[in-house]
Amino acid sequence: MKIILDRSKCGVLGICESVAPEFFEVTDDGDIAVLREDVPADRVAELEEAVLSCPTEALRLAP
Ligand code: SF4
Repeated sequence: MKIILDRSKCGVLGICESVAPEFFEVTDDGDIAVLREDVPADRVAELEEAVLSCPTEALRLAP
């Protein structure tokens, strides 16, 4: 699975970083960085939670 971030929807609220800090980081210049795009099978549940937690629906997982 891969993380797809729609930057046009992201409000850089950082909730994804709190849920999955190894995958997302709010940068010093106020952007969101996807640290790892590929999601190993044993981390899919964590990333699904991050996707559901994003208030602006900017995240999704793709095969
Ligand atoms: S939770 Fe959603 S809106 Fe917030 S930084 Fe992550 S992708 Fe952007």
